[in-house]
Amino acid sequence: MTGEKKKKVVKTIKVDVDKCNGCRACEVVCSAFHSMPKYSGNNPARSRIRVIREPLKDIYVPVYAGEHAKAECMGRDKYVIDGKEYEECAFCRASCPSRNEFKEPDSGLPLKCDMCESDPALEKPMCVQWCLNDALIYEEREEEVEEEEVQEELEIGLESLANKYGLEKIMDTVARMSMSKKG
Ligand code: SF4
Ligand code: SF4
Repeated sequence: MTGEKKKKVVKTIKVDVDKCNGCRACEVVCSAFHSMPKYSGNNPARSRIRVIREPLKDIYVPVYAGEHAKAECMGRDKYVIDGKEYEECAFCRASCPSRNEFKEPDSGLPLKCDMCESDPALEKPMCVQWCLNDALIYEEREEEVEEEEVQEELEIGLESLANKYGLEKIMDTVARMSMSKKG
């Protein structure tokens, strides 16, 4: 049986590596936007994007924080660009137990790019707005998906929140939000 069709917005940031000059403005603004309260600090170690820099070879590669991996991979990857060999897993997007990238420096909690989800919504994510070299290009498109897929996405999101904050806290927050909407 097929479910009802729903619209889903797919957000993409296209990275034009050739235009990146390694200024790291994206890292600074991402960490500032996600600090609590917003803009109260900026520490690139808390950023959900990091720029791999090789100034002598003029190589700069912005990498976005992706999914949290509970266990490290069985294999490794290694890149060689313009003769420079990068560390194992250098371009991996995962927050994983085998390395320190994409983790909150104090708590060790995983960091993941959330496309600057906020209310009201931003026209473009902060890193895109602040990349003055147009190395980061934001695009949106609509796709039709089955209702089950939307449900599955919701469950994955709730599960990761419950892992981070505990189920009880999530339930309390939802109850409080629904009370304030009614009131
Ligand atoms: S702001 Fe743009 S140019 Fe600067 S490091 Fe980030 S992606 Fe590269
Ligand atoms: S889209 Fe937002 S959350 Fe993601 S890396 Fe850019 S500034 Fe950070």
